[in-house]
Amino acid sequence: MASVTYEHVYKRYPGNTVITDMNAQIKDKEFVVLVGPSGSGKSTALRMLAGLEEISDGMVRIGDRVVNDVAPKDRDIAMVFQSYALYPHMSVYDNLSFGLKLRKTPKGEIDKRVREAAQILGLEPFLDRKPKALSGGQRQRVALGRAIVRQPKVFLMDEPLSNLDAKLRVQTRVQILKLHQRLQTTFIYVTHDQVEAMTMGERIVVLDNGIVQQFDSPQTLYEHPVNLFVAGFIGSPAMNFLNVKVGGDGQTQLQGEGFQVPVEERVLSEAGAERGQDVIMGIRPEDLKDVRFPGREGLPKVSAKVEVVESMGSEIFVYIVLGGKTLTARMDPRSHDIQPGQSIQVAVDTHHLHLFDPKTEKALVSRGAPAAAVPAVAEAPAPARLSREAAAVSAMPLPRRCWPRAAASPSAPAIKRGSMPPLRASATTSSPSRPMSANPATLKTSFRRPRRTSAGSIFSCTTPAAAAAPGWMRPTSSSTRPSS
Ligand code: ADP
Ligand code: MG
Repeated sequence: MASVTYEHVYKRYPGNTVITDMNAQIKDKEFVVLVGPSGSGKSTALRMLAGLEEISDGMVRIGDRVVNDVAPKDRDIAMVFQSYALYPHMSVYDNLSFGLKLRKTPKGEIDKRVREAAQILGLEPFLDRKPKALSGGQRQRVALGRAIVRQPKVFLMDEPLSNLDAKLRVQTRVQILKLHQRLQTTFIYVTHDQVEAMTMGERIVVLDNGIVQQFDSPQTLYEHPVNLFVAGFIGSPAMNFLNVKVGGDGQTQLQGEGFQVPVEERVLSEAGAERGQDVIMGIRPEDLKDVRFPGREGLPKVSAKVEVVESMGSEIFVYIVLGGKTLTARMDPRSHDIQPGQSIQVAVDTHHLHLFDPKTEKALVSRGAPAAAVPAVAEAPAPARLSREAAAVSAMPLPRRCWPRAAASPSAPAIKRGSMPPLRASATTSSPSRPMSANPATLKTSFRRPRRTSAGSIFSCTTPAAAAAPGWMRPTSSSTRPSS
């Protein structure tokens, strides 16, 4: 168990800075998700923490210890990758125990840890099977098990669910959260999927282009995004944006192309906006409502033409055209009679508007993150302007913690963490930035004669090839997956 701190961390390649001034304080036992589009630097940030990439500038701490120059094997972390990287010729049991054997852990101890991990992950029936006789989900659980037996201070996971189908992803997501509950260890989890981030993270670091945009709780990111990027990235369907001008004689209005939305004067003053100013208005799909139902009487209305209607059963996405743009409205099934081509009246819930500066793209209306958690590049905005009194419950998969944090499944005994001496990898490190080999031929050699490797320490099996997704089980590249 340990906290993790990034302090003004940079990663530079020749002619290419991929992480810029990253600051983040991850608390002991916290589950933090790094989320961002493909190429935003998530893996790089994680790999610098693991010691698989050199840190160009700044400091990374695990607990109180600066680890910039600490060998990966001595960082007391375990990492799970998208590629399971299991040894194909070894049973599940041997895959789980291999890393401990290399570290010369006593046999009885190895057996105990392997069986405990297998029980936690429901792998007991498969201990004698080879990986090829396992499903993708089972293989990924073996990879998780290999991290568990290490009993690290920090678990690092880089898109571990990307190779699983949608249903299995959700199941495994829950398993990982349960694992976190049970192990009470710091988890840092990388994903490009904002739904995964929202459902799993106690707090979320949103990265774009190597820059931390906001680091806060899922709900704060949703309700008070500090800039256009976060506003558009978090939430599905995404927030709608409209270019408007602040205007009106007497009554303040946000005026767009062919529509106007009256707002209270305080919206203007609290946002620090003036009449005549161009702003970007952001409105969540659930804040565009069907006027015909109770509770919408006091809200401003706009007329809009319906383009497409998508019924999801529990809700209906109505695509309307307003101000020359297609917006998404999220309505409940009572609006089932809305048809494409129809003109409808839509109530705009102006209590939940977001306003952004079109030049800086920063929020004019946002509670935002605590200033300390937001780097200079995404300066904390002015304090709360508009309160979202009702959480956007329907908008996000909110039951993100389905069990008490301290609860453990009664079917599985807790790992007795204090009962074992700390493990030390048998392999030593070479250059932390040395690329890992993905060549299956290397896998064989490395397996027989573990060699000096930077990757070794974070795997339960300590060969570089194991860390590098051997070709026989090569996953689809995460970069080929669409970013959400
Ligand atoms: P993510 O995990 O968010 O998809 P990565 O951390 O893998 O992103 O990569 C971030 C950026 O760093 C990408 O633009 C990638 O092209 C770049 N990058 C990664 N490795 C290298 C390298 N060895 N040399 C130069 N650029 C690199
Ligand atoms: Mg990545």
